[in-house]
Amino acid sequence: MAASRTIIVAGAGIGGLTAALALAAKGFRVTVLERTGRLDEVGAGLQLSPNASRILVELGLRSRLEACAVVPDAVTAINARSGRSIVRMRIADVATRAGAPYWVVHRADLQAALAAQVAAHPAIDLRLGCAVDDVAPDADGVTVSAGGAQERALAVIGADGIWSAVRGRVFPQIAPRFSGLIAWRGTLPAEAMPDGGMLRGVQLWLGPDAHLVVYPISGGRRINLVAVVDGSWNQRGWSARGEPTEIIARFAHWAGAAQALIGAVENWTRWALFAMPDGGAWNQGPVALLGDASHGMLPFAAQGAGMAIEDAAVLAAGLAARHGEGRGAAAEVAATLQRYAALRQPRVRQVQRLARQNGTIYHLPGAAALARDVAMRALGPNRLLARQGWIYDWRP
Ligand SMILES: Cc1cc2nc3c(=O)[nH]c(=O)nc-3n(C[C@H](O)[C@H](O)[C@H](O)COP(=O)(O)OP(=O)(O)OC[C@H]3O[C@@H](n4cnc5c(N)ncnc54)[C@H](O)[C@@H]3O)c2cc1C
Repeated sequence: MAASRTIIVAGAGIGGLTAALALAAKGFRVTVLERTGRLDEVGAGLQLSPNASRILVELGLRSRLEACAVVPDAVTAINARSGRSIVRMRIADVATRAGAPYWVVHRADLQAALAAQVAAHPAIDLRLGCAVDDVAPDADGVTVSAGGAQERALAVIGADGIWSAVRGRVFPQIAPRFSGLIAWRGTLPAEAMPDGGMLRGVQLWLGPDAHLVVYPISGGRRINLVAVVDGSWNQRGWSARGEPTEIIARFAHWAGAAQALIGAVENWTRWALFAMPDGGAWNQGPVALLGDASHGMLPFAAQGAGMAIEDAAVLAAGLAARHGEGRGAAAEVAATLQRYAALRQPRVRQVQRLARQNGTIYHLPGAAALARDVAMRALGPNRLLARQGWIYDWRP
């Protein structure tokens, strides 16, 4: 097929694979170039709220995801010192109202499901071990250099994560900033849970200068833990080993149940939390960014992957709605990518702000934490959940 219908996607992460499926569903031929030679098991659990799950369902992923995701019944906020529940929000009601599932899933399971769907699509060519080195826009499209070869395309989508090489070529001045926070991630078999593995929901433990998120993944067979603490260790990457004694010591003053969970984890990895500054550029001519490449954010709204999935749907719909082939097509693509950025940026900025606010609220110490707990109880679960409606009820 002509380069005029070919889109190159850099990166086969959650955003890149979703973009490939969404673009192929609109009739484009898609080449996905992924740096790593294997889609390895990196990362840990992800929450997928209805705004994102709806898109995945429409792309035909329901049965693949139902096989590995868990449908949590509730999100329970817990005071880390007392171990007492602050509020229990029935997340199942959110899914019913939104008409799409609320899932918790291992990132590797989600990526594998997307990759299997991609492999079954004749219009998508996924090439592993093929890092994008350069993008060179011109009057008719773009040339992408990867693995010593050059490819022509109508547009290139930089879905290559927070350390994006595509962004580095077009916007070298925009870079992620270290937040001063570190996420420790680990899993344990459900039967090793201190309560015997009956967890069906999401636990959000709130403590001074730290929080802990716990939920089942992998069809309920494993439990995912994310413990967020402050610190100065700021190496890049998703998979640096964490020393258990260090994290156990950080949570030594927490309620016994939280300590037992931390102590039961088999394999800790550390992830320094970087975030992109708000308001950076996302597009230039035939080049556009999506997902963490454009708006890597703190994970405290549980929406980083969700926003990447939304980006993919909006981008594909915009490119499909264009008319032109031939003369003027490149200008129209550039205008379409500009509209994509303008459509997405206000919503993503709002989510980035919410994530930062949540980080502050989750980590309040002393009297401020008591006031937070009182306010959450007074608002109650329904009003707390209703405040998230603008995220969950969104449709492309
Ligand atoms: C602790 C923590 C908890 C989180 N929890 C949630 C949650 O509950 N819900 C949620 O929605 N999000 C969550 N997130 C965020 C989520 O993981 C990310 O936002 C999401 O994975 C970003 O997807 P992406 O496709 O943009 O980038 P990535 O998934 O990072 O994928 C980028 C891909 O590009 C490839 N690549 C890199 N460079 C190149 C190159 N030069 N050429 C080709 N390929 C390249 C990489 O190998 C990778 O495969 C969490 C994040 C953290 C840190």
